Amino acid sequence: MNYNITIDKIKESKVSTIDFNNVHLGKTFTDHMFICDYENGEWTNPRIEPLHLIPTHPAAMALHYGQAIFEGMKATVDAEGTPMLFRPEKNASRLNFSASRMGMPTFPEDLFVEGLKQLVALDHDWIPPQEGSALYLRPFMYADEAFIGMRAATHYKFIIMASPSQPLYNKPVRLYAETKFIRAANGGTGEAKAAGNYAAAVQPTEIAKQKGYDQVLWLDAREFHYIQEVGTMNIFFKINGEFITPSLDGCILAGITRMSIIELLRHKGFKVTERPIHIEEIIEASKNGTLEEAFGTGTAVGITMIQEIGYKDSTIKVSDSFPIAQMLLDTLNGVRSGKMKDELNWMLKVE
Ligand code: PMP
Repeated sequence: MNYNITIDKIKESKVSTIDFNNVHLGKTFTDHMFICDYENGEWTNPRIEPLHLIPTHPAAMALHYGQAIFEGMKATVDAEGTPMLFRPEKNASRLNFSASRMGMPTFPEDLFVEGLKQLVALDHDWIPPQEGSALYLRPFMYADEAFIGMRAATHYKFIIMASPSQPLYNKPVRLYAETKFIRAANGGTGEAKAAGNYAAAVQPTEIAKQKGYDQVLWLDAREFHYIQEVGTMNIFFKINGEFITPSLDGCILAGITRMSIIELLRHKGFKVTERPIHIEEIIEASKNGTLEEAFGTGTAVGITMIQEIGYKDSTIKVSDSFPIAQMLLDTLNGVRSGKMKDELNWMLKVE
């Protein structure tokens, strides 16, 4: 479909005031934003405007009943400076999965990708050129109808913002396997990228940090035995040469990095199995020396090596060397910077 996205350009870009060696994901924002309104049952008026505050009625339903979802993705530049997006159509379809689960309207997937392309094209000077850095893109949707009462809203906004980020330091992390709080239960909203899931994770994450850990490892809601995912990442283990990752059982966010890493590992000839993983299996593999590596996957950092996991009163030692995780990270960064061949066709050029 052909969309008429109107563009109102900023008078003077702020990009010359930015030190790309000192930009932090989510703190600095580019000149422009993409906005679209939902009213009378349809999305209207797609536009790009200078980044601005949005007037909000105190009864805006997202503030009360939490109809709010988001996505996270990255734009990078190749060696010639051409902007590229990483699998944007996957984020478009995941946003719509989340929207359906939260009783929100879906957003046209071609307009999602077109909005991203036009925003990235306009703000392309904001894409940091160093390998490992990127322009983080944050598409999101929320209910902005002013109404008090529990039902699906009739007015929504869909917005895309962009934030440059320098390479994030991938230091190996220590996880805390949570046995009191849960992130997601069968039939809940764990598979949606809904704001409320993150709200429920704040307190347990703070507690884990107070205990000296970096992030929470979420376990199943029924018995606290089966591994789900980590903070804002999916998790992989390498045991006896084989990679395993929890299957998408409805409680886990279907990570786009997860999907890409499964494809990449299989492409390189490794065996990857998606199945339920009991924490006792990881304890056993750690004890008998078959637990070779563990890592998290997610848009923000790519690959994060996992050093150890605190579980009840003990520590599960994973590893101090991460050859495969490092290879995967180098491949992700290499493909994203155009230095490595995009063999699996992940990148969409913005030309
Ligand atoms: N799980 C959760 C809960 C997340 O927030 C994220 C980040 N979006 C991920 C997994 C990883 O998903 P992706 O690879 O698409 O960034």
